[in-house]
Amino acid sequence: MKEQFSQRITCPHCGHHIHIAVDASEGDQDYYEECSACCNPIHLNMHIDYASNKLELHVDSDDEQIF
Ligand SMILES: [Zn+2]
Repeated sequence: MKEQFSQRITCPHCGHHIHIAVDASEGDQDYYEECSACCNPIHLNMHIDYASNKLELHVDSDDEQIF
């Protein structure tokens, strides 16, 4: 299983498609990536399914988070 690759996601704020680098070596992750178009934080939830060797990436737009 590759541990690092890039993934294309859609910004939930502006709909812009951006590429992000994903590092699967750390296991499940919950983090934020800044959109390169609108600069809003995008909540990413990464889950690694070791049983089927798959990586799931969920994009959340929970605007209630304060930074
Ligand atoms: Zn955006």
